[in-house]
Amino acid sequence: MAETSVTVVALAALVTALATGLGALPLLATASLSRTWEGVGNAAAAGLMLGASGQLVIEGLDHGLARTLLGVVLGGLFMLFSRRVLPDSDEASMGVLRGADARKALLIVGVMTLHSAAEGIGVGVSFGGGQDLGVLMTAAIAVHNVPEGLAIALVMVPRGATVVVAAGWSVFSSLPQPILAVPAYLFVALFEPVLPVGLGAAAGAMVWMVARELLPDARERLAVTPTYATLALFTAAMLALGWLVAGG
Ligand SMILES: [Zn+2]
Repeated sequence: MAETSVTVVALAALVTALATGLGALPLLATASLSRTWEGVGNAAAAGLMLGASGQLVIEGLDHGLARTLLGVVLGGLFMLFSRRVLPDSDEASMGVLRGADARKALLIVGVMTLHSAAEGIGVGVSFGGGQDLGVLMTAAIAVHNVPEGLAIALVMVPRGATVVVAAGWSVFSSLPQPILAVPAYLFVALFEPVLPVGLGAAAGAMVWMVARELLPDARERLAVTPTYATLALFTAAMLALGWLVAGG
């Protein structure tokens, strides 16, 4: 097996970042969404994020139970704190988005960027454990980044962002992956101990986002049964996708 170079690690992580942008593309097919479909979109985004959180926790458990749980609590606390720091609905803006729409878009891009940082460290640490492990982890993250990009687009596009802008923010949210993968690979001994905390924190923040923001939004537009059926379906699909990639 050829020795892994820094370039290989950086390129691998860059591919995972670009994959995120692909997730926005299905939204090109829809010019405008009805209120019901917006609700389905929010519930689907919630399910994709819940499934991804499950994968993060499972990955964290491989490295340490206590540190993963500590991370989950820290992630939840971080979100609690961020609600006070984020601008009020009236003052928020993000590109063409204003008010509550901008606040929601900022929040999802922020949470997904945070969780990509943990995944970037995961890629680097995996390459530290050998090239085969690194390639497997990279493939798993690249594949699951596509539905994560979809989750971001499902939140941003119905609120007025174009598909191209949503795809751009999706790729942006994954940039910590190439940026952090290289130092994590070079300094595995330093990063390995904090990895489960980071993975747990990302999961905690995402579950908070699902419960506090996405599901209430879905429920405003959709009845109970279709909301939770969509949530369950997309959570299961995300977990199955992760299982397929990791087991394949
Ligand atoms: Zn992810």
